[in-house]
Amino acid sequence: MVSQAQILQWLQAYATEIEENKAYLTELDAAIGDADHGINMDRGFKKAIAQLPTVADKDIGSILKTVSMTLISSIGGASGPLYGTWFLRASTAVALKHELTEKDLLELLQAGLDGVLQRGKAQLGDKTMVDVLSPAVAAFRQAVGENQATVEAMQQAVAAAQRGLEETIPMQAKKGRASYLGERSIGHQDPGGTSTYFMLKSLLAILESSVE
Ligand code: ADP
Ligand code: MG
Repeated sequence: MVSQAQILQWLQAYATEIEENKAYLTELDAAIGDADHGINMDRGFKKAIAQLPTVADKDIGSILKTVSMTLISSIGGASGPLYGTWFLRASTAVALKHELTEKDLLELLQAGLDGVLQRGKAQLGDKTMVDVLSPAVAAFRQAVGENQATVEAMQQAVAAAQRGLEETIPMQAKKGRASYLGERSIGHQDPGGTSTYFMLKSLLAILESSVE
């Protein structure tokens, strides 16, 4: 189970993780993009966190929807609409819920991925956040199918996300700004995949910190 309070803690933890890694994300984007990914994400999530008090007693769907709207209106570049879509689809998947079973969380993760796929039209192997999200959702689905609890399933998802992220290094970018570099995009880790890995990792950290 994931509670509404844990979702709020996760969003706060993710915003902090982004803030701490702002320079790192920007450095990754400097290598194959325009050096704004850390700045974009930090600006967007600071604004999203500032909105959380207005939805502190609302259902999880409303909280995620507020994050989505804030990201869409405040992050420029490719990542604003993509993260905005992830949170919008995630919010719809868990509308009106105050706690999530592992099946609810699976639906949330799958809906977010589907939204990013439809919006960005990237395929697996294009060196984008999809290369992190997609194996994470698959691993989570498998773990839930094996009746693993939410924390264990999320551990599998984060491990798969980390492998997916490492696999972006040798890929040639086929979508977004990095694709303009052609073969010169090879040998660098994808910035959006990195921020996506942090998103999943910070959710796991919150789930683990509540289990004793
Ligand atoms: P921009 O590229 O507009 O400067 P950001 O630097 O904030 O935007 O984000 C770049 C990241 O966005 C990339 O590292 C990649 O993971 C992700 N991205 C770009 N295009 C797509 C797409 N079509 N589908 C999925 N993710 C994408
Ligand atoms: Mg950029």
